[in-house]
Amino acid sequence: MDTGLMRKYEKAKGYASDRGRMNVESMVVQFSGVNNPHRVEFHNGSWKCDCEFFVGRDHCSHTMALEMVMQGMVQPVSMR
Ligand SMILES: [Zn+2]
Repeated sequence: MDTGLMRKYEKAKGYASDRGRMNVESMVVQFSGVNNPHRVEFHNGSWKCDCEFFVGRDHCSHTMALEMVMQGMVQPVSMR
């Protein structure tokens, strides 16, 4: 790795531990659930999941798990 790239790598490590700098606007995740795979989407501050539990509730174990993984980068539903 050249020195320029090494400096960028060090800066990236600092950024990686500072999640508040990152605000996820949208993403699509293929989630390998216990029983079935699920497609989870996050767009404009809202979650969507194709599992049965999500319908009418607006969150489920899949969206909640992703909120935990993305902590600091997406606003949790419970915090709105
Ligand atoms: Zn789900």
